[in-house]
Amino acid sequence: MVVITYCSIFEAMLFRDVIGQKEIIGRLLRTVLDSRISHAQMLLGPEGTGNFPLALAYARFINCENRVRLDEEIYGFGWDSCGECPSCKKMYNLSHPDLHFIFPLPAELRKMKKDKKANELIYEPWRALIRETHGYFGLDDLHNTYNLKGKQTLISAEDCTEIIEKVSYHAYEGGYKIVIIYMPEKLFYSAAPKILKTLEEPPGKTLFLLIAQHQEMILNTILSRTQIIQVPRLNDKDIRQALISKGHSHEEGALAASVLAQGSYSTALRYARDSQWLEDNLKQFTTLTRLSFELHKKYELEKTQQLIQWVAFMSQQGREYQKNFLAYTLRMFREAVLASYQTTEINKMNTAEQEFMDRFFKVINHANILSITREVENALYSVERNGNANLIFMDLCFFLNRELRKGYRAVT
Ligand SMILES: [Zn+2]
Repeated sequence: MVVITYCSIFEAMLFRDVIGQKEIIGRLLRTVLDSRISHAQMLLGPEGTGNFPLALAYARFINCENRVRLDEEIYGFGWDSCGECPSCKKMYNLSHPDLHFIFPLPAELRKMKKDKKANELIYEPWRALIRETHGYFGLDDLHNTYNLKGKQTLISAEDCTEIIEKVSYHAYEGGYKIVIIYMPEKLFYSAAPKILKTLEEPPGKTLFLLIAQHQEMILNTILSRTQIIQVPRLNDKDIRQALISKGHSHEEGALAASVLAQGSYSTALRYARDSQWLEDNLKQFTTLTRLSFELHKKYELEKTQQLIQWVAFMSQQGREYQKNFLAYTLRMFREAVLASYQTTEINKMNTAEQEFMDRFFKVINHANILSITREVENALYSVERNGNANLIFMDLCFFLNRELRKGYRAVT
């Protein structure tokens, strides 16, 4: 079993452990303090923005028996769970009898839900995933946890029946019964009717929290019955601080990872944990720009062959590798523009990148920068949509050849 191990210390799942998202925390707190908790809410946001940790902290706060005041100046919000009461402790262990989870599974695991081994095979890995990622995980991580390798997963009609049954009883502990549905996008269409009535009129003191990423993939009948809370992408600074304070990265690594993560803490973690990627990306970027620039009449055959080899190499890599590389390339071209304006105070490059850029930035200027960044964005878009990688990278090389030469002529 492959589980991403981010940190051995499981954080307390409190609002103050959530990265950024102060505004949403404030809104969630107010619903509890004003006793107007909507019975079906959807936390909608891209992977790694924190919709799952927000849901866990919210669930915990709702049932906490001894809520505490916080210094709003320091935390940005005024309340949190105590972390100590019996309810908080059970929530922390993910063993609270009134906290239920539905998440997508493949058919063979779903069948085992009533089996004696269900706890060991289904729920323990799920709890481990939440503990080890602190709730910052995506569908890929879930699939890795169960070693699924491309198998189809979904939330079935039986899953819905099971939950409806569970919430029909009184809460064991007298507080709220809370059902967290992870990825309602995966709700099988024939399963939806089962849960609609309960979503609309749940038994008393029942809360459904839906954790979703793609609104367009969710059935309208579900959307119309939930209150949607948009969870925005995190800012670079919050990601950077979290990576450093949680001990995942040093200053330089955190800086690069946060810029490339595009507002997703789980993506930033993957970058921060793999120090090799930064070196490798710079190596590929240097090769791409050098070969593209040098492709010139005089050396044509030899240089063209090297370029074709490089394109073949890139095409053989996985989509994720190609996407990461293009995101990196985009960042480096943007850095080159900043370097050309000598705005060193907002420069975010490390030493090796800076050395390369000192030699390189002269050929990146007003004559070509806009068209280059647009072309790299297009390449990234095409790779994301499963375009032919060989053609995409070859086009990019020839485009860069033309544009870098243009930039060179503009300054000589
Ligand atoms: Zn408590």
